[in-house]
Amino acid sequence: MTSETYDVPPGEPVYECPDCGRPFPERRLLALHRGLDHPDRLDEAERDAFESAYEAEAEPLRRYRIAAVGVLVVLYFGLLMAFALLG
Ligand SMILES: [Zn+2]
Repeated sequence: MTSETYDVPPGEPVYECPDCGRPFPERRLLALHRGLDHPDRLDEAERDAFESAYEAEAEPLRRYRIAAVGVLVVLYFGLLMAFALLG
């Protein structure tokens, strides 16, 4: 058990980790936390929940990475053109 404290909004649903006591607002986030921080303490249902939550994160992360690279490329060439034309 750690000495960390958490502010939980009153009246909101809380999913608390049985191993470390950390609260989460969604069951999906608790499943991700348990799979990443307590992988040796999962039962079969928790492992399935972790794997489906992990896979559900993969596609949005991939789209975010592509968008981030696109923004960097546009910024890089935009600044390059600005310096070439104005500098
Ligand atoms: Zn935990």
